[in-house]
Amino acid sequence: MSEIVLKSREEIELMRESALIVSKTLGMLAAEIKPGITTLQLDALAESFIRDHHAEPGFLGLYDFPNTLCMSPNAQVVHGIPNNDPLQDGDIISIDCGALKNGFYGDHAYTFAVGEIDPATQKLLDITKASLYVGIDQFRLGNRVGDLGHAIQKYCEKEGFGVVRELVGHGLGRVMHEGPEVPNYGRRGTGKRFVNGMVLAIEPMINRGTRRINQLKDGWTILTKDGQPSAHFEHNVALIDGQPELLSTFQYIYDALGIESNEEAPFRAQPLSL
Ligand code: MG
Ligand code: MG
Repeated sequence: MSEIVLKSREEIELMRESALIVSKTLGMLAAEIKPGITTLQLDALAESFIRDHHAEPGFLGLYDFPNTLCMSPNAQVVHGIPNNDPLQDGDIISIDCGALKNGFYGDHAYTFAVGEIDPATQKLLDITKASLYVGIDQFRLGNRVGDLGHAIQKYCEKEGFGVVRELVGHGLGRVMHEGPEVPNYGRRGTGKRFVNGMVLAIEPMINRGTRRINQLKDGWTILTKDGQPSAHFEHNVALIDGQPELLSTFQYIYDALGIESNEEAPFRAQPLSL
């Protein structure tokens, strides 16, 4: 991972543009996710949508990744490759999307339910998403990387869920993976200090069972060792005047799905205007 690069207010506004293209792409996909559609079909929709918004897919070709979206169903944690298998009622699908515009990356993720899912899996999604905001709330001047990771870990482990350790959040900017590394576990008062101008991709990856993972022979796909489901939620957040400010939003997803939520409000300097 490269070094930490602090951003000016102007650069942060450019990053908000990149982030919102990803947010809109995930919102567009939310309306298309249903039993029968394939992850490759969704990938093609996302690539066209991003290019129509005068941006480039951020993952396509990055480290030789073959597609626009990382598509990780069910027991896959992250980095799944889109394919021709139709999604089925009761599946979950983690979609991670990147976009590059004006030289800056957006990079965030959401785990969707396909049709009706069982209550234990719904709880995994709810807790993982809530843990993302628990983490964001720690991204404040005076805190450190370990405070953020500790908060996410504690929140998820008290539910008996496994916190993946091998993959971490990161700084974001002109490079997809900048410093600092942002683990979803840690010890309070340890690690890099947060400073104004940092932009992070905060992204808990949480398993319903063991935290242990395997990697498929494709060299990409990460999946749970015990075959139980895994969830992944990610936001892009800037530290401005000591406070976390969301650059990304799930509101496009909620508008598509008819969900009411105020979860993002504490992390905006002013109300979101879409
Ligand atoms: Mg991501
Ligand atoms: Mg990321």
